Amino acid sequence: MIASDLSTAPPLATLRHTAAHLLAHAVKELFPETLVTIGPATEHGFYYDFARETPFVPEDLVRLEARIAELIAADLPVTRESISRAEAIARFQALGEHYKVEIISSIPEDDAITLYSVGTFTDLCRGPHVERTGEIGVVKLLGVAGAYWRGDERNPMLQRINGTAFATQAELDAHLAFLEEAARRDHRRLGRELDLFRIEEDAGGGLIFWHPRGTIVRGIIEAFIREGLAERGYQHVVTPHVVSERLYATSGHLESFADGMFGPLEVEGQRFRLKPMNCPGHILIYRDRLRSYRELPVRYAEFGTVYRYERSGTLHGLTRVRGFTQDDAHIFCTPEQLQGEFEQTLDEALRMMRAFGFDDLRFFLSTREQRGATDPIAEEAIRAALIAKGLPYEIDEGGGAFYGPKLDITLRDAIGRAWQLGTVQVDFVLPERFRLSYRGDDGGEHRPVMIHRALAGSLERFMGLLIEHYGGNFPLWLAPIQAVVLPISEHQLAYGRSVYDRLRAAGVRVELDTSNEKLGYKIRHWKTQKIPLLLVAGRSEEADGTISVNARGSEEKRPAISVEALIAEIAQAREARGVR
Ligand code: ZN
Repeated sequence: MIASDLSTAPPLATLRHTAAHLLAHAVKELFPETLVTIGPATEHGFYYDFARETPFVPEDLVRLEARIAELIAADLPVTRESISRAEAIARFQALGEHYKVEIISSIPEDDAITLYSVGTFTDLCRGPHVERTGEIGVVKLLGVAGAYWRGDERNPMLQRINGTAFATQAELDAHLAFLEEAARRDHRRLGRELDLFRIEEDAGGGLIFWHPRGTIVRGIIEAFIREGLAERGYQHVVTPHVVSERLYATSGHLESFADGMFGPLEVEGQRFRLKPMNCPGHILIYRDRLRSYRELPVRYAEFGTVYRYERSGTLHGLTRVRGFTQDDAHIFCTPEQLQGEFEQTLDEALRMMRAFGFDDLRFFLSTREQRGATDPIAEEAIRAALIAKGLPYEIDEGGGAFYGPKLDITLRDAIGRAWQLGTVQVDFVLPERFRLSYRGDDGGEHRPVMIHRALAGSLERFMGLLIEHYGGNFPLWLAPIQAVVLPISEHQLAYGRSVYDRLRAAGVRVELDTSNEKLGYKIRHWKTQKIPLLLVAGRSEEADGTISVNARGSEEKRPAISVEALIAEIAQAREARGVR
């Protein structure tokens, strides 16, 4: 046995890409009537989309996986050839692989076409691949799902087989454990189980109905953000959900973003659109009167609900939706004020993410490929702010969007997954389009710079993240129900109710379980609801005027405490997070 040399080990993406070819090889062998389409490596594995009449069933995946293992064990060479476009089209046409023909036809005429072959299977592919299948290690097929050809629901539905590959069984096992943990935390399932929200397909995909408990958590998040904004001199505004599309013609969104908008709706001969973003509305408020340099920066914040069209196939729980509320704000300032505003935004981002339990933040300065004349000013301001705050950052070359350079904030959740949240973006474009101005101390008219910023991004997405980060076990200060009072029998009902009344009066989010079930049953039921504190009221507690606390995640029974002490404990949890 030779110790493997890490420097020559193929990257995971490469061996997964070859694994996708082996999957196609096995499918063409075992299900010859199937047509192949595309099969890329993904962040955690690979997939291959196949066209066939009858859906694959789980037993098919077992057979395919076994065949792939044989192909790996055979240590087959992977070979590459370069051919002309016409030849490639003729080859795949002869095989009846019309999806491949369609792909090749869309490749620019003078681009080189490469084919990779392994065993009896040849695929159109850019590579790279491992040299021999033995390098792949181990392949696991994870499931099958529908996927439209080229992601377009007007096209035929294909069958996507998802899989993953690792160099060793131990790495695969660790990954499968990770997937199981991720499934346990899935916010779509927990959202139903904890009665937080629902999505009603009949009422439209990607639209969230917030139940009372979800609304409570959402309200706490909102209050937290509002408090930070107030301290930093923001003013809240509210703008309409439906406005004349003329506004978006001026902003340029109608030209560049019409496919992402809902509408138009025709009313009295005027065309309206559902608001896809809050910026134009805030601009109208700024433009209402002549501004002096003394007023700047002007900072407008709005929990602005916006609607954007996303393909139904891409919708996902709370994290990919069609209607969402941004913790949006726009700052109108002078170029000299940019750095200070970025510093303040970084302070706010850190305060917020730490309060919600995230310590692993990363900052990206996204530059633009097509740099505008003013880009260097903005880039320098962002860079200087990051340095002033002592925050390490990375450069995302060309990641800047339409308006200008931006700062992106990503964080890692409890199981190490990266989530992109906040964005702070500099914009010289909209102030120009809307002819914004302010009077400078020289008496002349000047153009302000605009900053678009959202830290949570959207409350929906942030909530999805929080549910998964905590696995539904919201910390005491954030839990929709903080405590439930459980009278042991009907004899303690009156005492239980008096405890409940006192807690409620102290602002605790508490419920009283008046059911006739046995205590053990009640405790089990409320534990499934992940309630932080279960408060048992029995005969001795009643005699002492106390309550026994059964805390979430702990088997130990704590000694009974007074109701005052309990109220103080809950208030302290709230204080520690800076939320009153
Ligand atoms: Zn904006």
